[in-house]
Amino acid sequence: MEDLTHNPLPYHYSITTSLLCVKCGSCKALCPTYIEDATEGMSARGRIALVTKFIEGELELSKKLDDRIFSCILCGACNKLCPLGINVTDTIYEVRNHIRGFNKKRILLGLGIKLVLKKASNLFKALKLLETINEIIPIFRLYPFSIIKRMDITIPTSMLKDKGNIFRVSKPKGRIAIFTGCTVNFLYPNIGISLIESLNAMNYDVILPKSEVCCGAPLMGLGLKEDAAEMAEKNIKAFKKLNVEAVVGFCPTCIDFIKNGYKNLFGDAIDNAVEVSQFFKDNNEFASLLVSSQHSVAGYKNTSSQPESPKSRKTFGGAEKGSQESHRFYGTKKVIYHDPCHSVYSLNISDEPRKILQSVGLDIIDSEKGCCGFGGTFRLLYQELSEGILEKRIKEYQKADMIVTSCPNCIIQLKSKINDRPIKHIVEVINEYIKSNQKIG
Ligand code: SF4
Ligand code: SF4
Repeated sequence: MEDLTHNPLPYHYSITTSLLCVKCGSCKALCPTYIEDATEGMSARGRIALVTKFIEGELELSKKLDDRIFSCILCGACNKLCPLGINVTDTIYEVRNHIRGFNKKRILLGLGIKLVLKKASNLFKALKLLETINEIIPIFRLYPFSIIKRMDITIPTSMLKDKGNIFRVSKPKGRIAIFTGCTVNFLYPNIGISLIESLNAMNYDVILPKSEVCCGAPLMGLGLKEDAAEMAEKNIKAFKKLNVEAVVGFCPTCIDFIKNGYKNLFGDAIDNAVEVSQFFKDNNEFASLLVSSQHSVAGYKNTSSQPESPKSRKTFGGAEKGSQESHRFYGTKKVIYHDPCHSVYSLNISDEPRKILQSVGLDIIDSEKGCCGFGGTFRLLYQELSEGILEKRIKEYQKADMIVTSCPNCIIQLKSKINDRPIKHIVEVINEYIKSNQKIG
């Protein structure tokens, strides 16, 4: 790997705009690493100040500076809060790319990730192999394999894409592609099946392109911008040739990256990519299903051709028949929706999933929002910090009977500490709702 650490930082708009920082500190308010660590260098403002000194030659690259730049979880909360519109995460990405050769442990991690990502199924095979070896020699006790153990991950018998690539219905109303992402493909195929079944129930043909590769966000996070761009090129090629209404994804980080990140990186993107709750919230077929089963809430967009019954405009708070059926079905009353950071801060999604969950008859209780502490490779490189951030969510979520989210990686993180209550992806809830209504119907 070429060592760029002694070269001056190349021009990038984000680096230039970060020099405009007035040190107001607004960006610190929701910074999870600052909330956890409480030192200035672990805050968004502190990181920008360090970058500024580094650019201006006042600060040499050191272990500490490297640590401050790579300990950012890339949640994007700071971008949303900065009154000057400084994009802190773009700045961090650029500096990471520049100093990527500084830390040997990270170089090894990057090489490992690139190796398994070269062919999508390699990662799955590697995980299965590790599991088999672990039965003979308990390697999951040793770092870095101990992380798999700590995250309490169970590796399924087969990948989602082993189950097929095209799922047709008899009279299709349209075609939808799914951006599967690594976590659902390798670890949670059932989440994938839930979406395929739901889309089929809504009369869509569903396509999972064989040539999809990792979105590249984990590589970008390690400063491996050129490798992430390679992934971008492959995915754009795989998805752009499909004649589909939308490319729906389970993971807001993947969707943000393939839709917005690719543009910055590559000048092109998968423009019709859409996060799953946004897709269902705006979908007429799903609205029809809700109206026909008389579950809807005020504010839910109903643009279906079916007339709205007065009853369908009610909020189902437990008294109506449909709501009670749903509650019995899930065996739960108090649901917390966990907002993935990239949904809220990058894709501006917050109300949509709550409206969907209310529409299927679940009561959402209020909770303090915050990062789960996963952050992809952050989980591997900063375990203690990651678990400290997670601990805050665990305490907050004690009051829920069930937790629902829209990100498979948040599910990994939350499941590593919560095993007494269901934690579901929103597409699992949607699919269970559709199936239960098919049975009732
Ligand atoms: S991206 Fe998140 S962790 Fe990183 S500086 Fe901004 S708020 Fe803090
Ligand atoms: S909010 Fe913006 S201007 Fe204020 S300290 Fe943070 S980056 Fe600087």
